[in-house]
Amino acid sequence: MIVMKFGGTSVEDAAAIDRAAKIVRGRLAEDPVVVVSALSKVTDQLIAMANAAGDGDRERALSLARGTRERHYVAASELLGTGVFAQIHSELESDLDALDELLRGIAAVGELTPRTMDNVVSHGERLSSKLVAAAFTARDIPAELVDARQCIVTDDTFTKAIPQMDATNDAVCERLRPLIREKRVPVMGGYMGATREGITTTIGRGGSDFSAAIVGAALDCSRIEIWTDVDGMKTADPNLCPEALRIKSIGFEEAAELAYFGAKVLHPSTVLPAVHKNIPVWVLNSRNPANEGTRITARAPHCRNTFKAIAAKKRVTVVDIIATRMLGAHGYLRTIFEIFDRHRCPVDVVSTSEVSVSVTVDSNEAIPLIAADLDQIADVKYGGRKAIVCLVGETLRDTPGVAARVFTAVKDINVRMISQGASEINITFVIDENDVPEAVQRLHTEFFSDPDPEVFARE
Ligand code: ASP
Ligand code: MG
Repeated sequence: MIVMKFGGTSVEDAAAIDRAAKIVRGRLAEDPVVVVSALSKVTDQLIAMANAAGDGDRERALSLARGTRERHYVAASELLGTGVFAQIHSELESDLDALDELLRGIAAVGELTPRTMDNVVSHGERLSSKLVAAAFTARDIPAELVDARQCIVTDDTFTKAIPQMDATNDAVCERLRPLIREKRVPVMGGYMGATREGITTTIGRGGSDFSAAIVGAALDCSRIEIWTDVDGMKTADPNLCPEALRIKSIGFEEAAELAYFGAKVLHPSTVLPAVHKNIPVWVLNSRNPANEGTRITARAPHCRNTFKAIAAKKRVTVVDIIATRMLGAHGYLRTIFEIFDRHRCPVDVVSTSEVSVSVTVDSNEAIPLIAADLDQIADVKYGGRKAIVCLVGETLRDTPGVAARVFTAVKDINVRMISQGASEINITFVIDENDVPEAVQRLHTEFFSDPDPEVFARE
């Protein structure tokens, strides 16, 4: 048994859905369960409609909804012959009519609750799963549409509802196992679920990966495939470094560190349910299915290179706080972090000495206000246009002398802050944004000119 999750770009239109069908057909012997996102950008549009309706702008809400309607009808007509089209058209129509009704209702009351928001946005996956299941059936795949709300049981924290694992595992097995036994291919929407009472919820943006991991873990499947539009994860951003290699295999912790510093492919925390059960997760490209992509496993594979990848995150501001007045006083870090917290400003890298603390934050408008608050207790300076560079690899733990190699490679670049996380699998430092291409290039040459063929592929 495997779970195949297709993201928004992998089902964005008729051509993409047709590609997805071919990919699934090639895996029928492995008993796939298919999880789909909404068509790309549809979730954003649904949120915009809901907000417009909530602001009382009924016309705008309904006009956005007309665009969504059109897009699904066009895809359906391109995918299906006349007879089947008529049937799926009326199924999509009833969802889309219900959506319009809902938007009119929201506009009439002029109030949008999180619960109603979830009802609106769940339409993205309701529609995509219907469309995909019909297209698969028309392409000789024995697809069976499954309503995710019968499988993913959540609490009622609307818009970021928490799946209740025991109930969900039972529901997934009960609903899906009989279908798989009959060689059917379940097709369900990701991202949404329902409370025990049956009220529709969603589990947070990007939640379809989470749905796929939950289903895969519940069914004890042998693999989860996350189909996207890139060839897996790379050793560096290919725009910065054309020699970047594909990472064939990466550990969960390594992937998590990279995601934190800007690798956008997938947020590994969403696949934790699978990793906990030692189920490998593959990131694959639906536009280039022959590519082997990247495999994420609980533990990193043995690798003769120290690092798996170099990530760089731009648009960072460094805030230096020199707290001479608080010398020796306890609780001063707490006081500082409380100020960031009050402004809802997450902090990334921190380095401290007895009297000074430097932190990085994403550049944002609140920084002058934060600095003004900090100014009450310390001397503060801040500067933008900085970047965080982060090298990640589990081999780092048992390799001496790595820091020397890293900083020798960038010895004439001005390094502002240095930190090595408690996980001991990354070295992180802060430089000027302008120096990023040069630094990444040099580090890539230093650490990847002789790549371990077991772990990296040149292509
Ligand atoms: N459609 C949802 C979103 O855009 C969930 C997903 O695609 O993973 O966030
Ligand atoms: Mg996604």
